[in-house]
Amino acid sequence: MRRLGQPAGGPLRARTAAAALAAALLLAGCAQSVDPIERLGKRAAQGARQPTPADGAAYRRWGLTAPLDTPPSHPARPLGTRRTDAAPPPVVDRVGTSDRVVFLTYDDGAERDPRFVDMVRELRLPVSFFLTDSVVGPGYGHFARLRAVGAAIENHTLDHPALPGLPYAGQRAEICGQQDRLASRFGVRPRLFRPPYGTYDATTLRAAGGCGISTVVLWRAALESDGIVYRGGAHRLGPGDIVLVGPDEAAGPTLTQRTIRLLRHLQREGLTVARLEDYLA
Ligand SMILES: [Zn+2]
Repeated sequence: MRRLGQPAGGPLRARTAAAALAAALLLAGCAQSVDPIERLGKRAAQGARQPTPADGAAYRRWGLTAPLDTPPSHPARPLGTRRTDAAPPPVVDRVGTSDRVVFLTYDDGAERDPRFVDMVRELRLPVSFFLTDSVVGPGYGHFARLRAVGAAIENHTLDHPALPGLPYAGQRAEICGQQDRLASRFGVRPRLFRPPYGTYDATTLRAAGGCGISTVVLWRAALESDGIVYRGGAHRLGPGDIVLVGPDEAAGPTLTQRTIRLLRHLQREGLTVARLEDYLA
């Protein structure tokens, strides 16, 4: 049996090397040709990650009865920055597509379960994290590991205030400040922003645009402790839906367990998971 409780990586030096390797593979655009999956025990023994042949049984280890369907290949959108005098960014809670895909998003950054990193890597699960600096605190290392295995890191303000009604300067400081913080941590400025509580006003959109945000991302469905809650529209998941995997503060199942539960549901519905950033301009 696998030792699932083992933290990702070994000594700090090994973890750093592993992250650098994974980042290099991603930057080189060869993540598809070099398989990042490996067995946890082998990694622990080697102390560093080495590419290994595909492990087609990963889904079983995570409690799925079949592999996740591969989403349709989609051209990555350019990373262009937004002009500060451009129109405000659009607000989306779903993406217009007929692809049978949904997008998994996570907020705040409070829960930092090492198993989640293992799951994302082994299932090659595209996920997006909207991080709040004051919640993540000293925990950015966890998200660097997640990013190294393919997760996207996006903006959720510095301090998680309710933005509507705040003056422009205050909203801009919250959004631009977290852009700067994430850029200094990860070397990339996010393109996507989610306002705390999903609430915003016209000032929020103007500030977000001025901070280089291309799209403001809400969600159409949220996984809560008692099931999936829909913010409108059909009461079932469908193509293009953006899903918030919550709740933010859970005393029950871990983030990993909640995600697996959602993946099983998606598979029953004939849906799979795609990368949100691939579908948004
Ligand atoms: Zn939040």
